[in-house]
Amino acid sequence: MNIIDKRNSLASSSSRSYRRRAKSSIRNIAIHHSATTSGSAEAFARYHVNELGWPGIGYHYVVDKDGSISLCHDVEVVSYHVGNSNSYAVGICMVGDFRTQTLGEEQRQATLDLTRSLMSELNIPIDNVWGHMEFPGYEWKPCPSINMQTFRNWLSEEGTSMPGRPSPRPTYVAGARQRTVLSRGDQGDDVRALQERLDELNFHPGPIDGIYGSQTTDAVMRFQRAASITVDGIVGPETRENLRDFEGSGDQREHGSPTDEADDKEEMYQSESRRLLRFIRPMMRGEDVQIVQEKTGAVVDGVYGPETEESVRRFQREEDLTIDGIVGPQTWRALDRINTSTGYQRLLSVQTPYLQGNDVKRVQRALNVTTDGLYGPMTERAVRNFQRREGISVDGIVGPQTWRRLFN
Ligand SMILES: [Zn+2]
Repeated sequence: MNIIDKRNSLASSSSRSYRRRAKSSIRNIAIHHSATTSGSAEAFARYHVNELGWPGIGYHYVVDKDGSISLCHDVEVVSYHVGNSNSYAVGICMVGDFRTQTLGEEQRQATLDLTRSLMSELNIPIDNVWGHMEFPGYEWKPCPSINMQTFRNWLSEEGTSMPGRPSPRPTYVAGARQRTVLSRGDQGDDVRALQERLDELNFHPGPIDGIYGSQTTDAVMRFQRAASITVDGIVGPETRENLRDFEGSGDQREHGSPTDEADDKEEMYQSESRRLLRFIRPMMRGEDVQIVQEKTGAVVDGVYGPETEESVRRFQREEDLTIDGIVGPQTWRALDRINTSTGYQRLLSVQTPYLQGNDVKRVQRALNVTTDGLYGPMTERAVRNFQRREGISVDGIVGPQTWRRLFN
């Protein structure tokens, strides 16, 4: 095998890093294609770091068309490539778009050799070598767009490197098997994936919550009607196939993306404290909600209600982000950034009861108004005047931008 060590040469984030794991926690090998007709470990790393804001490239290995293999991460690194399965999977990406291209012999051999060597090193059975789309929640993703059963047959039939080696027993991850039929009342990652797909195709299924309720049923029926198949609100093989191939009016992000991982949702799985947060019922709760509330100046009760959503909107407006009241990867990154700026803690605005604290006093001192530490109408007026003088948006709210103007 021709393996080139690029662990220290690829683009990576200066402020963030992937966490690590024990080798023994690795249970799967994930096979991807890049969904781009050409590319390289260098290009994917730049895209994942600079465009998606990830700590580093998503894959552990990248296999070029000529069969050369780039080593991008130690297998102990928990990088992003299969969503909520990242913690137990190693990712191999083959450069190419196998929806339209064929896998060449050199690349095929190199990928098989690499996979076999990882199976041996990590004691992973053939049945745990999965295509990206075989991972829970990714059944709609056309990755790697080669037949994985054939790939596994190649692994065993042509696997001469390990003669007589007893095959370890498959260790399935709980919930990792896809159900073949989904219907009302079902819950889980596969339901969530179904909802995401329906949403992508503009058959809005309501909240993407992994629960197959009345709205999801309704969306499935509308889809079935549009696809001219039996309308029963149940997702069986026929509906599944149509969902996968349907060319709806939804924007096909998949096709325009430089790699198949151009998936913002990827990051929301990275840890418990980085969920996608938004206002849904039942309302989301947790420490991550508290962090958002502290930083956006909402009342800190750990429950993501309408007021928190409004604070997030104000924050997004201030930071020139998409204003949707949802804390996704982009907003999380903006929230992370504000910690590093000079003493800025939270968004200040007139609320009931008035916000109070030392940060309010600092603002008041800087604006020469009564230093009572309460953010009321007087302070707001002074902030508006300041913003007008500075030529920035006049909203009477001290967000990161106004804070920087005041103190830098
Ligand atoms: Zn993939």
